[in-house]
Amino acid sequence: MKKRVKASRYNHIVTGQDGDVLGFNAMSCGLGSIDPDKRDRFAQMTASREPFEIDSEDEFCKELFRGGFLIPEDLDELSSIRAAHYSARFSEQSTGMTIIPTLNCNFACDYCYEDSSVHVSKDPSKRAMSEEVQDNLVELAESRIKENSVFTVTWYGGEPLLRLDIIESLSKRFKEICERKQSRYFAGIITNGYLLTPRTAVILAQNGVKFCQVTLDGVKAVHDSRRPLRGGSGTFDRIVENVTAVSEQTDLTLSIRINADNRNSSSISELLCDLRKRGLHDREKVNIYFGQVLEYSNSCRDTPDFCMANEEFADFQVVAYRKALELDFRISTYPFANLGNCGAVKSVASIIEPSGDVHNCWNTVGRHDMRTGDLTHEGVDATRNSINWLGWTPFAVKCNDCEVLPVCMGGCPYRSLFGADENGGDNGTCIWWKFNLRKMLELFSEAQKRGKLAVSQRKR
Ligand code: SF4
Ligand code: SF4
Repeated sequence: MKKRVKASRYNHIVTGQDGDVLGFNAMSCGLGSIDPDKRDRFAQMTASREPFEIDSEDEFCKELFRGGFLIPEDLDELSSIRAAHYSARFSEQSTGMTIIPTLNCNFACDYCYEDSSVHVSKDPSKRAMSEEVQDNLVELAESRIKENSVFTVTWYGGEPLLRLDIIESLSKRFKEICERKQSRYFAGIITNGYLLTPRTAVILAQNGVKFCQVTLDGVKAVHDSRRPLRGGSGTFDRIVENVTAVSEQTDLTLSIRINADNRNSSSISELLCDLRKRGLHDREKVNIYFGQVLEYSNSCRDTPDFCMANEEFADFQVVAYRKALELDFRISTYPFANLGNCGAVKSVASIIEPSGDVHNCWNTVGRHDMRTGDLTHEGVDATRNSINWLGWTPFAVKCNDCEVLPVCMGGCPYRSLFGADENGGDNGTCIWWKFNLRKMLELFSEAQKRGKLAVSQRKR
């Protein structure tokens, strides 16, 4: 039987250094190596600008259709992405919250917003979540968790492990609601790692935590100078010892975020060698990834001159991940169709501060004037700021024509809303895939052949 099809606008074809031809589709995110005898046919079909006819029983055509490289003649891909985007943003099926049990921290990072923010109380006793706010939060969860849905919590701070008691108490209450409503409960935690002992990891796991993220700011000397304890001592050794022990003794998935900027980029391979010596390259549940330090983010507010622009960071990623692969680390940055973009533009996403201030974006935490709501016993009372996020759209002219739109979806909404384009003008919001996708695809293919490719759903 004949079928009319056309080539997807999100096809990417890469010829690797070893002559391998790879096909990637940014909507399905399928990556495949094309057999030498099919390459001409593949190139011809995917390059065609006009619809054409295929034999629907042809195995190769079927494969290309399944992988999204060929699509029905009458499918408007951009409209279908628009529909998927708005339905993901405004779906109530899966409810997520980021909860900050305390804004206190045992670290004194040189870039931290909390101590300098006029909006964060200087009184440590007022920086932890009160019983009243906890009760309001549980009522909010009760109203938002639907029958047979999924409820996810990310614990964030301050340093959330300073108030493990609040995490335990709230987790118990959330789990009870989810069980009653036959919904699934998942949690993750962003911690500085200093208190993440195996014993604490077991308690977290008992409370539904499946995923931990810790951050290193570079090799020991650099990390210790940027992320010391409040008393000034270094924290690198303890964090890495904790991560090693937790990965040996528990089932938690650990993600090590390595912050990179112009100050530490040249010493990243030294850090990777250090982590390898400790065996962290060989743990199935340990991933590393490189985080871009941005001028507007907490990590770089006071040190903008050291930030890498997006294109620069994209080049750095290729070099750093190649080094990581050489050292046998698993590569976990594989792109995925990010159709709803981030939690900041979702209708039900919420970040709850200990005071009851509600935010859409992680980057505005600690800024009372940028809160998008106030948590009360009747739910969230939205402020006018929330309109900015709800009204945001990724379908700006430049994005509509972009060949990586499905994996980027307009970049970071905070950057486009608040004009943080300083790192590259019009490209300031563009994600790295726009600049390094081809080189990264070669790397992914190599990692796949060596059994070192991990497909992760980590958010940017
Ligand atoms: S991606 Fe941007 S808008 Fe979304 S949470 Fe992060 S900083 Fe905020
Ligand atoms: S922000 Fe840039 S990379 Fe992302 S979809 Fe728009 S044009 Fe493409």
